[in-house]
Amino acid sequence: MAKPKVAFYWCASCGGCEETIVDLAEDILGVVEAVDIALWPVAIDMKRKDVEAWEPGDVAVAFINGAVRLSEQKEWVELLREKCSLVIAFGSCAHMGGIPGLANATNREEIFANKYHRSPTVANPDGIVPQEQTNVDGYDLELPTFWKDVKPLNEVIDVDYYLPGCPPPFDLVATAVGAILEGKLPPKGSVIAPEKALCDTCERNDTKPDEMTITEFKRTATSTPDPEKCFLADGFLCMGPATRSGCGERCINGNMPCRGCFGPTPDAIDPGLKLLAAIASRGEADSEEDAKALADSLVDPLGTYYRFGLPASMLKRSADTERAQT
Ligand code: SF4
Ligand code: SF4
Repeated sequence: MAKPKVAFYWCASCGGCEETIVDLAEDILGVVEAVDIALWPVAIDMKRKDVEAWEPGDVAVAFINGAVRLSEQKEWVELLREKCSLVIAFGSCAHMGGIPGLANATNREEIFANKYHRSPTVANPDGIVPQEQTNVDGYDLELPTFWKDVKPLNEVIDVDYYLPGCPPPFDLVATAVGAILEGKLPPKGSVIAPEKALCDTCERNDTKPDEMTITEFKRTATSTPDPEKCFLADGFLCMGPATRSGCGERCINGNMPCRGCFGPTPDAIDPGLKLLAAIASRGEADSEEDAKALADSLVDPLGTYYRFGLPASMLKRSADTERAQT
């Protein structure tokens, strides 16, 4: 019997999700025994015309990682949606916008200005910036359009399932592939990960006092967390109360607080707001001055509360940025 085909594709991402597959090392042979990899740009040279030649449904599932920002990425994901029976948003960036989604805190003009003019490592005396249309020696060259926003995958195409994480751990990937092969998939739209919050599975939860007060936010860059203590109780902001479990507490085990890459628990409409509500009720200050000092001790609140999910949040982008582009 022919093996089911799978496709891997990447959009705006760092390549870490591809590493989940590469890190399998010799175990990749087990994957190849179960499925045929029909597309994997990081490892196999294939052209768009090869994919265009597929019939719809030829490929069982596309694992698409990365957020979407370029017109070319939109064309590719639309093509994969047409040809693949299932589409899985693979990893935090496809799921919620991820780290590239933090670009929604600024705007396209600022990004180009920093990248091509202001950055201290850039030497660009002629002030050249990429153009969508260029003619060089009589040849027309075209670059994709750089959108004003970074979008999660489900804002561009219909998505069947979500595999969270930065990157998704391989046991979750294996669970998803097994469910596809056995036809035992959860309802469409499900996030393939446990529904409990990370705090519910974290070994440090027992050290969290019933009455917890926060008087200052510490940073791991300047203080070392107590390896036995709940980070929140120790004064470090940890996204555990608002984040799905299933990662194996990777950061916690490395003595780093959770940054929220698995996305919100099913009951959270907005993970940043859920954590903000949980934290705000525990902040303790005797005066307005103390309250300001407490708020100021949290460096980069937007990048902390929405590190992995700004484009998928209720905010979607900075209001200043919206104004700057309209
Ligand atoms: S806040 Fe963080 S350290 Fe504390 S119990 Fe939750 S996940 Fe664990
Ligand atoms: S601890 Fe948090 S940030 Fe770290 S891998 Fe798990 S969900 Fe992601």
